[in-house]
Amino acid sequence: KPVKDKLGIAIIGLGEYASDELATALKKTKECYLAGIVTDEPSKAKKWKKYFNIPDTNIYDYKNFDRIKDNADIDIIYIVLPNSLHREYAVRAAKAGKHVICEKPMAITVKDCDKMLTAFDKSGTMLSIGYRLHFEPHHIKVMELGQKKYYGNIKRLIAKNGIPEIDGWRLDKELSGGGALMDVGVYCVQAVRYTTGMEPVSVTAKEGKKTSKKKFKEIEESISWQMEMPGGLIAECECSYTKEMSLLRAEAESDWFELSPAFTYSGIKGKTSSGKMNLRNINQQVAQMDDFANAIKNNKPTPVDGETGKQDVKILQAIYKAVKTGKRVII
Ligand code: NDP
Repeated sequence: KPVKDKLGIAIIGLGEYASDELATALKKTKECYLAGIVTDEPSKAKKWKKYFNIPDTNIYDYKNFDRIKDNADIDIIYIVLPNSLHREYAVRAAKAGKHVICEKPMAITVKDCDKMLTAFDKSGTMLSIGYRLHFEPHHIKVMELGQKKYYGNIKRLIAKNGIPEIDGWRLDKELSGGGALMDVGVYCVQAVRYTTGMEPVSVTAKEGKKTSKKKFKEIEESISWQMEMPGGLIAECECSYTKEMSLLRAEAESDWFELSPAFTYSGIKGKTSSGKMNLRNINQQVAQMDDFANAIKNNKPTPVDGETGKQDVKILQAIYKAVKTGKRVII
């Protein structure tokens, strides 16, 4: 079939991230556009329909979602649901013969990740994970400085990510799969992997004290953990649901480089020991979605594929095990 100029995306789950970030981005993407929505909220459907001029035939709910298979307008389904629902909707989307962008974390267990990978193997469509920072100029620079050992081997690596306030499904373990680690800690795991270009050998970890036992009854509020990399580097990481943090810092043999804030949607600032990075802040979600649409059009792999997402979930699970046992856990 002929390749479309712009691929059609359908978002499933019209919550905060979809409305605050993706909606704006989808007004600016060049390779794809918002063609449909999947929601159980008629009031949201009405708003989105008007804003994006979506025909009624491209509006679905969770029950009739599988009918999207027959809709040629929709090429990509973007899953922006609570974490534990990612697996089910990704598998249904694959069965409908669609490509998928699935938000992070890919799923809440490695087993779920495997089910997703099998579904995409069968469908022959592509899966990508919503790792927006892979396409961000400062992070691309860090990958280059770190992986190419521009300043020599990294001797010390720090990654911290924390947000000051959360509520809703994030506090519900069944929907979230865990606390701060699943949600914001995953950025640190990713950052350690792409700054070094290496996979951790083992992890050690400790849960932080809870500021409210009631609020954080089911999930952890904070964790500090260490990732042991081949060659002996021990990356120091921390995540929190009450403490605001956003730092990625590498100290290498001859110089250091850091991003602070590191993981935000905008305003990322980079420095090295020789000065400012002087890079642009871009719309990360535009870059991420356009890259994926391009990959599909040109039959190229995506740098943020399902295997990458699964490896992160595997590391997250190892960190939880290290918290529970108090022991070093081999990956
Ligand atoms: P929200 O709670 O704001 O939105 C989730 C949406 O999912 C809801 O609005 C609802 O949409 C739908 N939904 C379906 N079933 C449920 C359920 N049982 N409970 C709650 N919502 C349900 O969450 P976020 O937008 O903050 O997060 C969604 C996903 O996006 C998560 O996986 C998160 O990790 C990821 N995320 C990624 C970010 C990034 O930077 N890459 C940033 C923020 C979030 P509807 O009413 O339309 O059915």
